This record gives sequence, structure tokens and C-alpha cells, in this order.
Amino acid sequence: MTQAWHITIRWDWAEDSPAGVTVVDRVVDNPADLGRLVNAARADPHVVAFSYRQVRELTGDEPQHCRAGHAAGGSATRPVRDWWPCSCGGHLVLRCRRCPDVLADPPVGADCDTKGRATSP
Ligand SMILES: [Zn+2]
Ligand SMILES: [Zn+2]
Repeated sequence: MTQAWHITIRWDWAEDSPAGVTVVDRVVDNPADLGRLVNAARADPHVVAFSYRQVRELTGDEPQHCRAGHAAGGSATRPVRDWWPCSCGGHLVLRCRRCPDVLADPPVGADCDTKGRATSP
């Protein structure tokens, strides 16, 4: 099964965007590429918004419950998406809004250097 992320980046003006348009949709298939795009978007003062989501298949398979069983229905309870830079390339993280549960994808491995982040609130 291949892993991919869909990232959407919005700029304030087309002239300030490297692509010459205000909205860019990209699909990347490895976390290092996604991390580069996210870091570039965060560093660019002309980027007004960006978002990304994991796409594994067309229907999507984002977890609908955290490990404590909280359902992720509706916008108020959807998990918070986060990004952990890591020596392995980075992890997409879904944090439950109602408990400290965190799902990292790909899973944090023994060689990963996100352990401090994973256990901090
Ligand atoms: Zn929860
Ligand atoms: Zn890692």
C-alpha cells in the first residue's frame, strides 16, 4: 500500500507564489517531501494558509476514533493535525481533542527522535 499526502497551500498574491498562482495542490508520497513543503509554507510570510491530509486510498481511511474511543465526528471533535519533524523524515500526527491520545503515521519507531514530543502533553 502506498502512502501519500495531499497538501494545499494558499498565498496572499499570485505574484508572491513560486508557482504564480494563489492556490497550489500537491500530492507527495514521502514524509520528507511533505516536511519540506510544510516548512517552506511556514517560513513564507506570503503563505496565508496551508493544510494537508493523508491519502492512502480514494475513500480515505483516517481513524474515526482515538484509542480511548472518542469519535471524530464533526468539525469540533476532529483530531488536530500536527507534524513532527524526525530523523526518519517526519510523522503526520493526529491528536484527539478530548484526551491526550496521539496517533503518529508512520508509527514512531525505535530510531525516531520524536520520543520527547510523543510523551509531552
Ligand atoms: Zn480521545
Ligand atoms: Zn521518525
